[in-house]
Amino acid sequence: MEPRDLSAHSVYRPGRGIEETARELGLDPDDLVKLSSNENPLGPSPAAVDAVRAAADQMHVYPTTSHTDLTAALAEEWDVSDAQIWLANGGDGALDYLARAMIEPGDRVLVPEPDFTYHAMSARYHHATVDSVPLVAEEEFRQTPDRIAGAVDDHRIVYLTRPHNPTGSTIDLESLRAIADRTGPETLVVVDEAYQRFADVTSAVELLSERDDVAVLRSFSKTYGMAGIRLGYAVVPEAWADAYAAINTPFAASELACRAGLAAIEDDEHLDRTLDLVEWARSYIREHLDAPTLPSGGNFVLAEVGDATSVTERARERGVLIRDCTSFGLEEYARISVGRREQLPDAIETLNDVLATVETTP
Ligand SMILES: *Cc1c(COP(=O)(O)O)cnc(C)c1O
Repeated sequence: MEPRDLSAHSVYRPGRGIEETARELGLDPDDLVKLSSNENPLGPSPAAVDAVRAAADQMHVYPTTSHTDLTAALAEEWDVSDAQIWLANGGDGALDYLARAMIEPGDRVLVPEPDFTYHAMSARYHHATVDSVPLVAEEEFRQTPDRIAGAVDDHRIVYLTRPHNPTGSTIDLESLRAIADRTGPETLVVVDEAYQRFADVTSAVELLSERDDVAVLRSFSKTYGMAGIRLGYAVVPEAWADAYAAINTPFAASELACRAGLAAIEDDEHLDRTLDLVEWARSYIREHLDAPTLPSGGNFVLAEVGDATSVTERARERGVLIRDCTSFGLEEYARISVGRREQLPDAIETLNDVLATVETTP
């Protein structure tokens, strides 16, 4: 037998893991610097690690209390009702819940191009048709109201990301409001805020008190350094918040994930250290890399490196992993995630060596 026709589905290829790469190159994982997946180079909050250890012997119990408690804590943080917090297995899981709640077979959705691949993937396997609107280098890849709203027709969902991955561009709240105003009443604007804490912008959750056509995606992966535990959520308008129960298991996030999440949101010190590091590292990359870079509100910088596939491959051979953006349709660009203070200067020096050789050997 065969699965259903998946030939139109794109596959999301994440940056390769550090152990895999080390094995392949015959190197010690400790000798590699991973700047390819926008992870938090400081690791998780120590409080979250303790919480996971403490919860480990409770993994035989369904996560009823921790799920409820984390939902309530996030609702309080955002000043919304508990029902408006849709916990999920990562931000990716929350994207699936939004698609499940919104999309009827044949509906159309709109994504920018380039874009975080999972937006289109999730919509597609929920039986939507995906249209795209190009973002352009001349506008620093910004998702402007004219560009986005100009391309919206009867789309059921419009996916926007702030800051945008992989380009780092941001959208201010006024522009988001303008976009939502210019789309029809049955169009949901999904604002993906996986990187919002790193940018100088107010969260779009603020818009939920004025309208019911915006939902906001949040993730613990980037800000809190918890990509491995898979925890994220959507904040949705009150008007249709009860759809969650109809489309989802009551245990969308695990006991360990919920316990870690509860600890992480209390750890302001780790968050401050993370935000300081991101700010420093973004500037360091932009100042010291021998390639044009774009302003970024994320924990990464997009650089115009020429032949991105060669540059990425040669950097990898020298132990520095960055993200070739060819799969995003940006063959000339690589995305470089922030690294720790003691590792980034050497890594950038290696990248500069590579850039110099790739330029001179076509
Ligand atoms: C990383 C990321 C996510 C979600 O990541 P999860 O690990 O599933 O929480 C969502 N959107 C964008 C743009 C991302 O880069």
